[in-house]
Amino acid sequence: MGTYDFVKETGRDTYWELMEKEKSMMLDRRTGKLKKSLERHVKCPVCRLDDTSFAFEKDGFTYVKCLECGMLYINPQLDEDKIRAQYRSLPSQNYWIEVLQTERQLKYDTKKFRGALEDMMMFAEPGKLLDIGCNLGIFLDLARKKGWDAHGVELNEKARAVAEKKFGLDIYGKPLEELDLEPESFDVITLWEVLEHLTNPRDILEQAHRLLKPNGMIVILVPNCDSLAIRMMHGKTAAFGWGHLWYFTPASLETLLNQYGFKVFKVGTELGEIDTITNHLQFDDPYIGNNVKRRYKSPYIQPEAIKKKLAQFICENNLGYKLRMYAKKR
Ligand SMILES: [Zn+2]
Repeated sequence: MGTYDFVKETGRDTYWELMEKEKSMMLDRRTGKLKKSLERHVKCPVCRLDDTSFAFEKDGFTYVKCLECGMLYINPQLDEDKIRAQYRSLPSQNYWIEVLQTERQLKYDTKKFRGALEDMMMFAEPGKLLDIGCNLGIFLDLARKKGWDAHGVELNEKARAVAEKKFGLDIYGKPLEELDLEPESFDVITLWEVLEHLTNPRDILEQAHRLLKPNGMIVILVPNCDSLAIRMMHGKTAAFGWGHLWYFTPASLETLLNQYGFKVFKVGTELGEIDTITNHLQFDDPYIGNNVKRRYKSPYIQPEAIKKKLAQFICENNLGYKLRMYAKKR
């Protein structure tokens, strides 16, 4: 994942070009930073304090660290209305839906969601499911085939249209608070790589708690800020980009879930990112892939069998690139 052939085959290069153009509209030419007129100052989403130290800067955005709990986030962020505009109509956001529909990406996502569903079904029998930010609906389609009563919310009109046409799914197109959903009516709520994008992750957790049945389950997947790749490479990892506002760790996400009446019962991480780290250790571009032609011997390059073991060790110790958390409504 993230290597250059994957990038080309999925059209991510065009997507990134569009994002670059959009970014240049957002940045002040003189300072190279986000325009003051677009700024929105935020507090730590976990402890609600505004006491931070500077962490690093990337692409004109400043990353700060909460001195109370260590949470890393972008501050100032892009203004909420602009973010909303982004999710409905910015060219890059619409182009992203094209990326998701490429053959290689569909194959990748189907495999990814099949694994996620299998994992999830170790803890819940098929029932009523809500996938927030469901995109094309691949996960919902797979879930439905396994007997789930599958519902989704997706604010991007284009993604919703694909979900409806491709899978015949009926997807809600409004924010949760504007929908007339019955409280305590869902058995499971999923948020696959969604929470890190949301202007107010707290609101979503509150809504999820309201909509879940007692003892209902929430499953969240986010980039893992405690991952070895992020801790070693900091801003060089693809996880850091202005679309990702918050960088959760197993501890900070659990604290946040506790505040909203959830009890975490399983934490797992995935993607060891061995090749990415190996490339970085050798001063190569981390995302150049694993077929770099090197004529020298390097202590960092390991045989496949060892790489596999290393990746397993990383994920089992919650150092994987993505964090998956399961919690129940208390
Ligand atoms: Zn904090």
